[in-house]
Amino acid sequence: MNEPVYERVQSHLGRLKLSQMAVCLDGVAEQAAKHEWTYLDFLDQLLDAEVSARTERDVAMKTKLAHFPFTKTLDQFEFGFQPSISERQIQELATLRFIAHGENVLLLGPPGVGKTHLAIALGVAAIQQAVSVYFTTMVDLLDVIHRDAKEDRLAHRLDTLCRPKLLIIDEMGYFTLDRMAAQFLFQLISRRYLKGSIILTSNKSYGDWGDIFADQILATAILDRLLHVSTTLNIRGQSYRLREKRKAGVFTELNEPAKEV
Ligand code: ADP
Ligand code: MG
Repeated sequence: MNEPVYERVQSHLGRLKLSQMAVCLDGVAEQAAKHEWTYLDFLDQLLDAEVSARTERDVAMKTKLAHFPFTKTLDQFEFGFQPSISERQIQELATLRFIAHGENVLLLGPPGVGKTHLAIALGVAAIQQAVSVYFTTMVDLLDVIHRDAKEDRLAHRLDTLCRPKLLIIDEMGYFTLDRMAAQFLFQLISRRYLKGSIILTSNKSYGDWGDIFADQILATAILDRLLHVSTTLNIRGQSYRLREKRKAGVFTELNEPAKEV
């Protein structure tokens, strides 16, 4: 390749911060010459290298910011094990149309049926489509709210939690929310209403949500906004965790253990 042109191209790629194109230039140019690619094919390959590298970086960054406790995908979910879940409905959610419309998803069911797995898998699918995601458990959120309240930082926290396009709140229902926490949750849900989707998982059905909140009026207001445009999946079935333990021989004698450990 003509040296001054090569140097100029590399310098331009550097100035334009097209670092992957700079890295791939030699190889792609060689391939182009060898296979007699058209100019357009050459440009296509080079741009593709840059876009792929950037997408990969973006996904890695967004995954870090999402704070998932573990990563799971929909491919790893055995729909056959959980017949109460409609695979079609999950695939529909995975198109992320609900995020485009700021709709919510509620995954309800007993422990071990895959609520967190599905919430994370939808989060992972969202990140693949460049959507920002933040995952928190309700208990972590309560901790943070109470700390922030002491430091007068609740408004700032609210702003932070309104930023991601998809907010996942896992494990609602294990702890009661005091009035302050319920008010915060109400503000969070109101601010995100129709703008930013929430995936919420709970071991409690709606009828039992009264127990989660100290304040019934706030509980109704929260449910009202949360459910207005939403999809609820009621998962009934056996715990996958216990099946794994059964397979490992821990529960050989038990057919239907009453409580999960
Ligand atoms: P939950 O949040 O409902 O308590 P999890 O999503 O944490 O349940 O599931 C418990 C474990 O079992 C996780 O490791 C999850 O990946 C796995 N799991 C649950 N259901 C399925 C399933 N149908 N197919 C594959 N793995 C599953
Ligand atoms: Mg869970």
